[in-house]
Amino acid sequence: MTTITVAKGDGIGPEIMNATLKIILAAGARIEIDEIEIGEKVYLSGHTSGISDQSWEIIRRNKIFLKAPITTPQGGGYKSLNVSTRKFLGLYANVRPCASFYPFIQTKHPVMDIVIVRENEEDLYAGIEHQQTDEVVQCLKLISRPGCEKIIRYAFEYAKQQNRKKVTCFTKDNIMKQTDGLFHQVFNEIAAEYPEIENEHWIIDIGAAKMADTPELFDVVVMPNLYGDVLSDIAAQLTGSVGLAGSANIGEECAMFEAIHGSAPAIAGQDVANPSGLIQAAIMMLNHIGQNQVAEKVHNAWLKTLEDGIHTADIFKEGISTKKVGTQEFAQAVVLNLGKKPSVLKSVQHLNNYTLNLPKYRRRATAKKVLDGVDLFVHWNGTDANELAGKLQRLETGGIKLNVITNRGIKVWPDGFKETFCTDHWRCRFRPQQSLEISKIDIATLLTRAIEEDIDVIKTENLYSFDGKVAYSLAQGQ
Ligand code: NAD
Repeated sequence: MTTITVAKGDGIGPEIMNATLKIILAAGARIEIDEIEIGEKVYLSGHTSGISDQSWEIIRRNKIFLKAPITTPQGGGYKSLNVSTRKFLGLYANVRPCASFYPFIQTKHPVMDIVIVRENEEDLYAGIEHQQTDEVVQCLKLISRPGCEKIIRYAFEYAKQQNRKKVTCFTKDNIMKQTDGLFHQVFNEIAAEYPEIENEHWIIDIGAAKMADTPELFDVVVMPNLYGDVLSDIAAQLTGSVGLAGSANIGEECAMFEAIHGSAPAIAGQDVANPSGLIQAAIMMLNHIGQNQVAEKVHNAWLKTLEDGIHTADIFKEGISTKKVGTQEFAQAVVLNLGKKPSVLKSVQHLNNYTLNLPKYRRRATAKKVLDGVDLFVHWNGTDANELAGKLQRLETGGIKLNVITNRGIKVWPDGFKETFCTDHWRCRFRPQQSLEISKIDIATLLTRAIEEDIDVIKTENLYSFDGKVAYSLAQGQ
Protein backbone atom coordinates (compact mmCIF):
# COMPACT_ATOMS: atom_id res chain seq x y z
CA MET A 1 0.00 0.00 0.00
CA THR A 2 1.39 3.42 -0.95
CA THR A 3 0.02 6.66 0.45
CA ILE A 4 -0.27 9.28 -2.24
CA THR A 5 -1.25 12.93 -2.03
CA VAL A 6 -4.15 13.88 -4.29
CA ALA A 7 -5.30 17.37 -5.25
CA LYS A 8 -8.47 17.71 -7.29
CA GLY A 9 -7.60 21.23 -8.42
CA ASP A 10 -9.79 23.68 -10.30
CA GLY A 11 -12.02 23.84 -13.39
CA ILE A 12 -12.28 20.35 -14.89
CA GLY A 13 -9.86 19.06 -12.23
CA PRO A 14 -12.38 17.42 -9.85
CA GLU A 15 -14.23 15.67 -12.73
CA ILE A 16 -11.14 14.18 -14.33
CA MET A 17 -9.61 13.28 -10.95
CA ASN A 18 -12.77 11.45 -9.82
CA ALA A 19 -12.82 9.56 -13.14
CA THR A 20 -9.14 8.63 -12.86
CA LEU A 21 -9.31 7.49 -9.23
CA LYS A 22 -12.38 5.39 -9.98
CA ILE A 23 -10.50 3.56 -12.75
CA ILE A 24 -7.26 2.91 -10.89
CA LEU A 25 -9.03 1.79 -7.72
CA ALA A 26 -11.24 -0.57 -9.76
CA ALA A 27 -8.04 -1.94 -11.34
CA GLY A 28 -6.72 -2.80 -7.89
CA ALA A 29 -4.29 0.05 -7.20
CA ARG A 30 -2.97 -0.39 -3.68
CA ILE A 31 -3.08 3.25 -2.67
CA GLU A 32 -4.14 5.25 0.34
CA ILE A 33 -5.30 8.77 -0.55
CA ASP A 34 -4.38 11.91 1.39
CA GLU A 35 -6.42 14.71 -0.18
CA ILE A 36 -5.29 18.32 -0.04
CA GLU A 37 -6.81 21.54 -1.34
CA ILE A 38 -4.68 23.70 -3.65
CA GLY A 39 -5.30 26.30 -6.32
CA GLU A 40 -7.74 29.10 -6.92
CA LYS A 41 -9.65 28.95 -3.63
CA VAL A 42 -6.45 28.81 -1.63
CA TYR A 43 -4.93 31.70 -3.63
CA LEU A 44 -8.02 33.83 -3.12
CA SER A 45 -8.17 33.03 0.61
CA GLY A 46 -4.91 34.90 1.02
CA HIS A 47 -2.14 32.34 0.35
CA THR A 48 -0.33 33.98 -2.57
CA SER A 49 1.38 30.66 -3.23
CA GLY A 50 -1.93 28.76 -3.69
CA ILE A 51 -1.10 26.20 -1.00
CA SER A 52 -1.00 26.07 2.80
CA ASP A 53 2.04 25.03 4.88
CA GLN A 54 0.12 22.01 6.12
CA SER A 55 -0.45 20.79 2.54
CA TRP A 56 3.26 21.17 1.82
CA GLU A 57 3.97 18.93 4.80
CA ILE A 58 1.62 16.26 3.46
CA ILE A 59 3.17 16.39 -0.03
CA ARG A 60 6.69 16.11 1.40
CA ARG A 61 5.77 13.27 3.72
CA ASN A 62 4.04 11.14 1.06
CA LYS A 63 6.52 11.98 -1.74
CA ILE A 64 4.08 10.87 -4.47
CA PHE A 65 1.62 13.49 -5.69
CA LEU A 66 -1.22 13.01 -8.19
CA LYS A 67 -2.37 16.47 -9.14
CA ALA A 68 -5.26 17.78 -11.24
CA PRO A 69 -4.81 21.08 -13.09
CA ILE A 70 -5.24 24.31 -11.20
CA THR A 71 -6.12 27.85 -12.20
CA THR A 72 -3.50 30.49 -11.47
CA PRO A 73 -5.39 33.78 -11.05
CA GLN A 74 -4.17 36.31 -13.64
CA GLY A 75 -2.50 39.47 -12.32
CA GLY A 76 -2.20 40.23 -8.61
CA GLY A 77 1.32 38.78 -8.48
CA TYR A 78 0.21 35.16 -7.84
CA LYS A 79 3.07 32.74 -8.52
CA SER A 80 2.29 29.54 -10.44
CA LEU A 81 1.99 26.70 -7.93
CA ASN A 82 2.88 24.21 -10.66
CA VAL A 83 6.23 25.87 -11.18
CA SER A 84 6.90 26.26 -7.42
CA THR A 85 6.01 22.61 -6.73
CA ARG A 86 8.40 21.38 -9.41
CA LYS A 87 11.18 23.58 -8.06
CA PHE A 88 10.63 23.21 -4.29
CA LEU A 89 10.57 19.42 -4.63
CA GLY A 90 13.47 19.27 -7.09
CA LEU A 91 11.34 17.60 -9.81
CA TYR A 92 13.92 18.19 -12.52
CA ALA A 93 12.57 15.91 -15.26
CA ASN A 94 9.19 16.45 -16.90
CA VAL A 95 8.45 13.43 -19.08
CA ARG A 96 5.61 13.84 -21.59
CA PRO A 97 4.84 10.93 -23.93
CA CYS A 98 2.77 11.93 -26.99
CA ALA A 99 1.68 9.10 -29.29
CA SER A 100 -1.00 8.80 -31.99
CA PHE A 101 -3.75 6.23 -31.75
CA TYR A 102 -4.45 5.88 -35.46
CA PRO A 103 -6.93 4.89 -36.88
CA PHE A 104 -9.05 5.33 -33.76
CA ILE A 105 -8.29 8.97 -33.06
CA GLN A 106 -8.15 11.31 -36.02
CA THR A 107 -4.70 12.81 -36.52
CA LYS A 108 -2.67 14.19 -39.41
CA HIS A 109 0.17 12.01 -38.14
CA PRO A 110 -0.70 8.31 -37.90
CA VAL A 111 2.88 7.35 -37.05
CA MET A 112 3.95 9.35 -34.05
CA ASP A 113 5.45 8.23 -30.77
CA ILE A 114 7.46 11.02 -29.20
CA VAL A 115 8.54 11.46 -25.60
CA ILE A 116 9.36 15.04 -24.70
CA VAL A 117 11.76 15.30 -21.79
CA ARG A 118 11.44 18.88 -20.57
CA GLU A 119 13.89 20.49 -18.14
CA ASN A 120 11.67 21.50 -15.25
CA GLU A 121 13.49 23.72 -12.77
CA GLU A 122 15.23 26.60 -14.51
CA ASP A 123 15.44 28.63 -17.74
CA LEU A 124 13.07 31.63 -17.92
CA TYR A 125 10.86 29.86 -15.36
CA ALA A 126 13.14 31.17 -12.64
CA GLY A 127 10.58 33.97 -12.95
CA ILE A 128 13.16 36.67 -12.14
CA GLU A 129 11.84 39.77 -13.87
CA HIS A 130 12.50 43.48 -13.46
CA GLN A 131 11.51 46.82 -14.86
CA GLN A 132 14.28 49.38 -14.42
CA THR A 133 13.51 51.96 -17.11
CA ASP A 134 10.25 53.41 -18.42
CA GLU A 135 10.40 51.41 -21.62
CA VAL A 136 12.11 48.07 -20.98
CA VAL A 137 11.37 45.01 -18.85
CA GLN A 138 13.64 42.01 -18.52
CA CYS A 139 13.47 38.33 -17.57
CA LEU A 140 16.57 36.47 -16.47
CA LYS A 141 17.23 33.19 -18.27
CA LEU A 142 19.20 30.91 -15.95
CA ILE A 143 20.69 27.68 -17.28
CA SER A 144 23.03 25.71 -15.02
CA ARG A 145 25.48 22.88 -15.66
CA PRO A 146 23.87 20.64 -13.01
CA GLY A 147 20.45 21.41 -14.51
CA CYS A 148 21.65 20.42 -18.00
CA GLU A 149 23.54 17.33 -16.84
CA LYS A 150 20.60 15.98 -14.82
CA ILE A 151 17.96 16.38 -17.52
CA ILE A 152 20.11 15.23 -20.42
CA ARG A 153 21.38 12.17 -18.56
CA TYR A 154 17.78 11.43 -17.59
CA ALA A 155 16.77 11.57 -21.28
CA PHE A 156 19.49 9.10 -22.30
CA GLU A 157 18.85 6.75 -19.37
CA TYR A 158 15.11 6.89 -20.12
CA ALA A 159 15.77 6.08 -23.79
CA LYS A 160 18.00 3.16 -22.77
CA GLN A 161 15.48 1.75 -20.32
CA GLN A 162 12.53 2.13 -22.69
CA ASN A 163 14.48 0.69 -25.61
CA ARG A 164 14.21 3.85 -27.63
CA LYS A 165 16.65 4.48 -30.43
CA LYS A 166 17.33 8.19 -30.61
CA VAL A 167 17.60 11.28 -28.42
CA THR A 168 17.20 14.67 -30.10
CA CYS A 169 18.11 17.98 -28.48
CA PHE A 170 16.39 21.30 -29.36
CA THR A 171 18.02 24.64 -28.49
CA LYS A 172 18.47 28.09 -29.96
CA ASP A 173 22.21 28.24 -29.41
CA ASN A 174 22.91 30.11 -32.63
CA ILE A 175 21.46 33.13 -30.78
CA MET A 176 21.86 32.28 -27.06
CA LYS A 177 25.42 31.06 -27.16
CA GLN A 178 25.96 31.05 -23.41
CA THR A 179 22.68 29.63 -22.07
CA ASP A 180 21.43 27.37 -24.86
CA GLY A 181 25.08 26.89 -25.82
CA LEU A 182 25.72 25.23 -22.45
CA PHE A 183 22.69 22.96 -22.87
CA HIS A 184 23.93 21.89 -26.33
CA GLN A 185 27.51 21.39 -25.12
CA VAL A 186 26.40 19.20 -22.21
CA PHE A 187 24.16 17.26 -24.62
CA ASN A 188 27.22 16.50 -26.79
CA GLU A 189 29.27 15.45 -23.73
CA ILE A 190 26.62 13.09 -22.38
CA ALA A 191 25.56 11.72 -25.79
CA ALA A 192 29.15 10.48 -26.22
CA GLU A 193 28.64 8.19 -23.20
CA TYR A 194 25.73 6.43 -24.96
CA PRO A 195 27.13 5.28 -28.33
CA GLU A 196 24.32 2.74 -28.72
CA ILE A 197 21.71 5.54 -28.85
CA GLU A 198 21.59 7.78 -31.89
CA ASN A 199 21.74 11.50 -31.10
CA GLU A 200 21.13 14.74 -32.98
CA HIS A 201 20.65 18.44 -32.35
CA TRP A 202 18.22 20.78 -34.09
CA ILE A 203 17.85 24.52 -33.79
CA ILE A 204 14.45 24.77 -32.10
CA ASP A 205 12.63 26.76 -34.82
CA ILE A 206 13.30 24.37 -37.67
CA GLY A 207 13.19 21.41 -35.25
CA ALA A 208 9.69 22.42 -34.14
CA ALA A 209 8.58 22.88 -37.76
CA LYS A 210 9.97 19.45 -38.59
CA MET A 211 8.24 17.92 -35.56
CA ALA A 212 4.90 19.42 -36.62
CA ASP A 213 5.39 18.15 -40.17
CA THR A 214 7.08 14.76 -39.76
CA PRO A 215 6.86 13.73 -36.09
CA GLU A 216 7.70 10.15 -37.05
CA LEU A 217 11.34 11.29 -37.36
CA PHE A 218 11.54 11.91 -33.60
CA ASP A 219 11.79 9.59 -30.64
CA VAL A 220 12.96 11.06 -27.30
CA VAL A 221 13.39 14.85 -27.48
CA VAL A 222 15.12 16.76 -24.67
CA MET A 223 14.99 20.52 -24.30
CA PRO A 224 15.10 23.47 -21.92
CA ASN A 225 11.99 24.36 -19.92
CA LEU A 226 10.18 26.94 -22.06
CA TYR A 227 10.67 25.09 -25.36
CA GLY A 228 9.50 21.86 -23.70
CA ASP A 229 6.38 23.55 -22.35
CA VAL A 230 5.39 24.87 -25.77
CA LEU A 231 6.37 21.85 -27.84
CA SER A 232 4.72 19.27 -25.60
CA ASP A 233 1.33 21.01 -26.02
CA ILE A 234 1.92 21.01 -29.78
CA ALA A 235 2.97 17.36 -29.77
CA ALA A 236 -0.09 16.34 -27.72
CA GLN A 237 -2.40 18.32 -29.99
CA LEU A 238 -0.85 16.64 -33.05
CA THR A 239 -1.93 13.28 -31.67
CA GLY A 240 -5.54 14.47 -31.65
CA SER A 241 -6.10 16.47 -28.45
CA VAL A 242 -4.17 18.21 -25.69
CA GLY A 243 -6.49 16.22 -23.41
CA LEU A 244 -4.68 12.97 -24.22
CA ALA A 245 -1.23 13.46 -22.71
CA GLY A 246 -0.02 12.99 -19.17
CA SER A 247 3.26 13.89 -17.55
CA ALA A 248 5.58 12.65 -14.86
CA ASN A 249 7.60 15.21 -12.90
CA ILE A 250 10.48 13.25 -11.46
CA GLY A 251 12.92 14.24 -8.73
CA GLU A 252 15.46 12.42 -6.60
CA GLU A 253 13.01 12.03 -3.71
CA CYS A 254 9.55 13.09 -4.81
CA ALA A 255 7.46 12.78 -7.95
CA MET A 256 4.34 14.52 -9.20
CA PHE A 257 2.00 13.23 -11.89
CA GLU A 258 -0.44 15.40 -13.83
CA ALA A 259 -2.14 15.94 -17.19
CA ILE A 260 -0.24 18.34 -19.44
CA HIS A 261 -3.31 20.52 -20.06
CA GLY A 262 -4.78 23.17 -17.78
CA SER A 263 -8.03 23.56 -15.87
CA ALA A 264 -10.08 24.37 -19.03
CA PRO A 265 -12.53 26.66 -17.15
CA ALA A 266 -14.79 27.07 -20.20
CA ILE A 267 -15.86 23.42 -20.08
CA ALA A 268 -15.69 22.91 -16.29
CA GLY A 269 -18.62 21.27 -14.52
CA GLN A 270 -20.17 20.01 -17.78
CA ASP A 271 -18.93 16.41 -17.66
CA VAL A 272 -17.40 16.77 -21.15
CA ALA A 273 -13.64 16.91 -20.41
CA ASN A 274 -11.41 14.08 -21.54
CA PRO A 275 -9.83 12.46 -18.45
CA SER A 276 -7.20 10.64 -20.57
CA GLY A 277 -4.30 12.97 -19.75
CA LEU A 278 -4.73 12.40 -16.03
CA ILE A 279 -5.29 8.67 -16.60
CA GLN A 280 -1.95 8.57 -18.47
CA ALA A 281 -0.35 10.42 -15.55
CA ALA A 282 -1.82 7.90 -13.09
CA ILE A 283 -0.42 5.03 -15.20
CA MET A 284 3.03 6.61 -14.98
CA MET A 285 2.53 7.01 -11.21
CA LEU A 286 1.58 3.35 -10.78
CA ASN A 287 4.72 2.31 -12.65
CA HIS A 288 6.78 4.67 -10.54
CA ILE A 289 5.53 3.13 -7.28
CA GLY A 290 6.14 -0.37 -8.58
CA GLN A 291 2.51 -1.34 -9.26
CA ASN A 292 3.32 -2.23 -12.85
CA GLN A 293 0.64 -4.82 -13.36
CA VAL A 294 -2.10 -2.44 -12.27
CA ALA A 295 -0.60 0.18 -14.60
CA GLU A 296 -0.66 -2.31 -17.47
CA LYS A 297 -4.26 -3.28 -16.77
CA VAL A 298 -5.42 0.35 -16.78
CA HIS A 299 -3.38 1.17 -19.88
CA ASN A 300 -4.74 -1.74 -21.92
CA ALA A 301 -8.34 -1.05 -20.83
CA TRP A 302 -7.91 2.59 -21.82
CA LEU A 303 -6.52 1.62 -25.25
CA LYS A 304 -9.39 -0.82 -25.73
CA THR A 305 -11.90 1.94 -24.89
CA LEU A 306 -10.33 4.22 -27.52
CA GLU A 307 -10.47 1.32 -29.97
CA ASP A 308 -14.14 0.73 -29.17
CA GLY A 309 -14.74 4.28 -30.42
CA ILE A 310 -16.07 5.45 -27.06
CA HIS A 311 -14.79 9.03 -27.19
CA THR A 312 -15.18 12.32 -25.35
CA ALA A 313 -16.15 15.39 -27.37
CA ASP A 314 -12.57 16.60 -28.01
CA ILE A 315 -11.67 13.44 -29.98
CA PHE A 316 -15.13 12.46 -31.25
CA LYS A 317 -15.33 12.18 -35.07
CA GLU A 318 -18.31 10.92 -37.07
CA GLY A 319 -17.28 7.83 -39.00
CA ILE A 320 -14.48 6.93 -36.58
CA SER A 321 -16.07 7.18 -33.15
CA THR A 322 -19.02 5.01 -32.18
CA LYS A 323 -20.32 6.89 -29.15
CA LYS A 324 -19.86 10.38 -27.75
CA VAL A 325 -19.57 10.15 -23.97
CA GLY A 326 -19.02 12.43 -21.03
CA THR A 327 -16.15 12.23 -18.56
CA GLN A 328 -17.79 9.80 -16.13
CA GLU A 329 -19.25 7.54 -18.84
CA PHE A 330 -15.80 7.31 -20.42
CA ALA A 331 -14.37 6.29 -17.04
CA GLN A 332 -17.12 3.67 -16.64
CA ALA A 333 -16.29 2.25 -20.10
CA VAL A 334 -12.61 1.95 -19.11
CA VAL A 335 -13.61 0.17 -15.88
CA LEU A 336 -15.73 -2.30 -17.88
CA ASN A 337 -12.72 -2.96 -20.14
CA LEU A 338 -10.33 -3.74 -17.25
CA GLY A 339 -8.74 -7.11 -17.99
CA LYS A 340 -9.21 -6.70 -21.77
CA LYS A 341 -6.57 -5.83 -24.34
CA PRO A 342 -6.77 -3.76 -27.51
CA SER A 343 -6.79 -5.80 -30.71
CA VAL A 344 -5.35 -3.34 -33.26
CA LEU A 345 -3.41 -0.87 -31.12
CA LYS A 346 -0.36 -2.44 -29.56
CA SER A 347 -1.12 -3.65 -26.07
CA VAL A 348 1.40 -2.56 -23.46
CA GLN A 349 3.46 -4.48 -21.00
CA HIS A 350 4.79 -2.63 -18.00
CA LEU A 351 7.26 -5.07 -16.57
CA ASN A 352 9.98 -3.14 -14.91
CA ASN A 353 10.11 -0.52 -12.27
CA TYR A 354 10.55 2.78 -14.09
CA THR A 355 12.60 4.52 -11.43
CA LEU A 356 15.93 5.58 -12.88
CA ASN A 357 18.82 5.74 -10.47
CA LEU A 358 21.02 8.44 -11.83
CA PRO A 359 24.40 9.35 -10.37
CA LYS A 360 24.44 12.40 -8.11
CA TYR A 361 25.74 15.57 -9.75
CA ARG A 362 29.45 16.05 -9.09
CA ARG A 363 30.75 19.57 -9.09
CA ARG A 364 33.80 20.13 -11.29
CA ALA A 365 37.02 21.84 -10.20
CA THR A 366 36.58 25.61 -10.20
CA ALA A 367 37.97 27.40 -13.25
CA LYS A 368 40.36 30.36 -13.26
CA LYS A 369 38.01 33.32 -13.35
CA VAL A 370 39.26 36.68 -14.60
CA LEU A 371 37.33 39.96 -14.49
CA ASP A 372 37.61 41.29 -18.06
CA GLY A 373 35.43 44.36 -17.72
CA VAL A 374 31.96 45.53 -16.76
CA ASP A 375 28.67 46.42 -18.43
CA LEU A 376 26.90 49.40 -16.88
CA PHE A 377 23.21 49.47 -17.81
CA VAL A 378 21.98 53.03 -18.00
CA HIS A 379 18.50 54.56 -18.06
CA TRP A 380 18.80 57.53 -20.43
CA ASN A 381 16.08 59.34 -22.35
CA GLY A 382 18.26 60.74 -25.14
CA THR A 383 18.45 59.37 -28.66
CA ASP A 384 22.00 60.11 -29.86
CA ALA A 385 24.43 57.45 -28.69
CA ASN A 386 27.38 59.78 -29.43
CA GLU A 387 26.02 62.19 -26.82
CA LEU A 388 25.73 59.36 -24.25
CA ALA A 389 29.25 58.19 -25.11
CA GLY A 390 30.54 61.70 -24.39
CA LYS A 391 28.96 61.61 -20.92
CA LEU A 392 30.27 58.11 -20.20
CA GLN A 393 33.80 58.92 -21.32
CA ARG A 394 33.91 61.36 -18.42
CA LEU A 395 33.74 58.31 -16.12
CA GLU A 396 36.84 56.68 -17.60
CA THR A 397 39.56 56.10 -15.01
CA GLY A 398 43.17 55.12 -15.42
CA GLY A 399 43.22 52.21 -17.77
CA ILE A 400 39.46 51.62 -18.05
CA LYS A 401 37.78 52.89 -21.20
CA LEU A 402 34.33 52.89 -22.71
CA ASN A 403 34.43 50.10 -25.28
CA VAL A 404 30.98 49.85 -26.84
CA ILE A 405 27.36 50.92 -26.26
CA THR A 406 24.46 48.74 -27.31
CA ASN A 407 20.70 49.19 -27.24
CA ARG A 408 18.68 45.98 -26.95
CA GLY A 409 21.90 44.15 -27.82
CA ILE A 410 22.79 45.96 -31.07
CA LYS A 411 25.87 48.15 -31.25
CA VAL A 412 24.99 51.86 -31.44
CA TRP A 413 28.41 53.31 -30.55
CA PRO A 414 31.01 53.58 -32.00
CA ASP A 415 29.85 53.70 -35.62
CA GLY A 416 26.16 53.05 -35.01
CA PHE A 417 23.53 53.30 -37.77
CA LYS A 418 21.12 56.23 -37.60
CA GLU A 419 18.36 53.82 -38.66
CA THR A 420 18.65 51.72 -35.45
CA PHE A 421 15.70 52.31 -33.13
CA CYS A 422 16.79 53.01 -29.56
CA THR A 423 14.92 52.66 -26.28
CA ASP A 424 15.82 54.25 -22.93
CA HIS A 425 17.87 51.16 -21.86
CA TRP A 426 21.58 51.31 -22.78
CA ARG A 427 24.30 48.77 -22.15
CA CYS A 428 27.64 50.53 -21.76
CA ARG A 429 30.67 48.25 -21.75
CA PHE A 430 33.90 49.28 -20.05
CA ARG A 431 37.09 47.34 -20.70
CA PRO A 432 40.68 47.72 -19.48
CA GLN A 433 42.87 49.53 -21.95
CA GLN A 434 46.18 47.77 -21.45
CA SER A 435 46.07 45.03 -18.84
CA LEU A 436 43.64 42.17 -19.35
CA GLU A 437 42.05 42.44 -15.96
CA ILE A 438 40.16 44.99 -13.90
CA SER A 439 39.33 44.91 -10.20
CA LYS A 440 36.08 45.35 -8.35
CA ILE A 441 37.46 48.61 -6.95
CA ASP A 442 37.52 49.89 -10.55
CA ILE A 443 33.83 49.08 -10.86
CA ALA A 444 33.04 50.81 -7.57
CA THR A 445 34.96 53.88 -8.79
CA LEU A 446 33.05 53.91 -12.09
CA LEU A 447 29.76 53.73 -10.18
CA THR A 448 30.74 56.54 -7.83
CA ARG A 449 31.70 58.76 -10.75
CA ALA A 450 28.42 57.90 -12.50
CA ILE A 451 26.53 59.17 -9.44
CA GLU A 452 28.62 62.35 -9.46
CA GLU A 453 27.87 62.87 -13.19
CA ASP A 454 24.14 62.20 -12.62
CA ILE A 455 24.09 59.11 -14.85
CA ASP A 456 21.31 56.68 -13.86
CA VAL A 457 23.03 53.29 -13.68
CA ILE A 458 20.29 50.72 -13.13
CA LYS A 459 22.44 47.61 -12.92
CA THR A 460 25.84 46.20 -13.69
CA GLU A 461 27.04 42.88 -15.08
CA ASN A 462 30.62 41.79 -14.54
CA LEU A 463 32.41 40.38 -17.60
CA TYR A 464 34.41 37.26 -16.90
CA SER A 465 36.52 34.77 -18.74
CA PHE A 466 36.81 31.24 -17.35
CA ASP A 467 40.08 29.41 -17.98
CA GLY A 468 40.83 31.96 -20.68
CA LYS A 469 37.50 31.51 -22.47
CA VAL A 470 35.41 34.64 -22.89
CA ALA A 471 32.12 33.97 -21.08
CA TYR A 472 29.86 36.83 -22.18
CA SER A 473 28.28 37.81 -25.45
CA LEU A 474 29.76 40.39 -27.78
CA ALA A 475 27.54 43.19 -29.01
CA GLN A 476 25.59 42.39 -32.16
CA GLY A 477 27.57 44.10 -34.90
CA GLN A 478 30.78 44.25 -32.84
P1 NAD B 1 -6.10 24.57 -20.98
O1 NAD B 1 -5.18 23.44 -21.22
O2 NAD B 1 -6.85 24.58 -19.71
O3 NAD B 1 -7.15 24.65 -22.19
C1 NAD B 1 -6.75 24.80 -23.55
C2 NAD B 1 -7.84 24.27 -24.49
O4 NAD B 1 -7.85 22.84 -24.44
C3 NAD B 1 -9.25 24.72 -24.12
O5 NAD B 1 -9.99 24.86 -25.31
C4 NAD B 1 -9.78 23.54 -23.31
O6 NAD B 1 -11.18 23.45 -23.34
C5 NAD B 1 -9.11 22.34 -24.02
N1 NAD B 1 -8.86 21.24 -23.07
C6 NAD B 1 -7.90 21.21 -22.11
N2 NAD B 1 -7.97 20.06 -21.44
C7 NAD B 1 -8.98 19.35 -21.97
C8 NAD B 1 -9.54 18.07 -21.69
N3 NAD B 1 -9.05 17.30 -20.72
N4 NAD B 1 -10.58 17.65 -22.44
C9 NAD B 1 -11.06 18.42 -23.42
N5 NAD B 1 -10.58 19.64 -23.76
C10 NAD B 1 -9.54 20.10 -23.02
O7 NAD B 1 -5.21 25.89 -21.12
P2 NAD B 1 -5.56 27.43 -20.79
O8 NAD B 1 -6.95 27.74 -21.24
O9 NAD B 1 -4.42 28.18 -21.36
O10 NAD B 1 -5.45 27.56 -19.22
C11 NAD B 1 -6.56 27.52 -18.32
C12 NAD B 1 -6.04 27.59 -16.89
O11 NAD B 1 -5.27 26.41 -16.61
C13 NAD B 1 -5.14 28.78 -16.58
O12 NAD B 1 -5.49 29.29 -15.30
C14 NAD B 1 -3.75 28.19 -16.51
O13 NAD B 1 -2.92 28.88 -15.63
C15 NAD B 1 -4.04 26.79 -16.00
N6 NAD B 1 -3.03 25.77 -16.34
C16 NAD B 1 -2.75 24.85 -15.37
C17 NAD B 1 -1.86 23.84 -15.63
C18 NAD B 1 -1.58 22.86 -14.54
O14 NAD B 1 -2.21 22.91 -13.50
N7 NAD B 1 -0.62 21.97 -14.72
C19 NAD B 1 -1.26 23.72 -16.90
C20 NAD B 1 -1.60 24.65 -17.89
C21 NAD B 1 -2.50 25.67 -17.60
